[in-house]
Amino acid sequence: MTTISTIENDPARGQPMPGAALARTEPDRNCPLCPRLAGFREAARVREPEWFNSPVPSFGDPDGRLLIVGLAPGLQGANRTGRPFTGDFAGDLLYATLLEYGFAKGKYQARPDDGLTLVDCRIGNAVRCVPPQNKPLPAEINTCRQFLSATVETMPRLRAIVALGRVAHESTLKALGVRSSAAPFVHGAIHQAGAVKLHDSYHCSRYNTNTRVLTPEMFSAVFANVRTDLDR
Ligand code: SF4
Repeated sequence: MTTISTIENDPARGQPMPGAALARTEPDRNCPLCPRLAGFREAARVREPEWFNSPVPSFGDPDGRLLIVGLAPGLQGANRTGRPFTGDFAGDLLYATLLEYGFAKGKYQARPDDGLTLVDCRIGNAVRCVPPQNKPLPAEINTCRQFLSATVETMPRLRAIVALGRVAHESTLKALGVRSSAAPFVHGAIHQAGAVKLHDSYHCSRYNTNTRVLTPEMFSAVFANVRTDLDR
């Protein structure tokens, strides 16, 4: 049986006030706020001019009830194609699972023009620019959180968030305005934060699946819980 922990908002975290001006959900193409990532992005533009090489925008339905939060674009995945989780191994498992549980329709073909659409669902990343070795620095995670917070803030029907990995979990908690100590990251855990349930999952990276830290069955079980809860 899945345990659901209830966590309370931390006013000191700055939960958006009702009626406050909505922040921007998407950064500029040349967002300069993280100098290291901006430099990495510029170098990639020179090296691979056909790639997207920009902050990757969220994908899917702003009116959806489900938000999936990943870590950051993969160099040859979303950073190349411009759509979250598109073009690398993590996307194969994520989109197959979303199709299985009715959160996507169409056929995933690892291209942003494959016609796949999300249903009641949106996908974004805690950090919008590709980081070297897939490892954003704490300051970069903190700086980019303004876009994650704005994404959460502008989803009026949001009821469930799946955080893929510990970094996404921690940043999402801060975006929700809750204390991280009240909701430790555990694969399969569900934390109730106000009207939103935060579901934790290990990231669906090739490394995690190759090492069996995350099996397709474990990943599927997370989305089965989300589906059951939203259909209730
Ligand atoms: S990671 Fe986010 S805040 Fe940092 S440069 Fe990219 S878009 Fe801007």
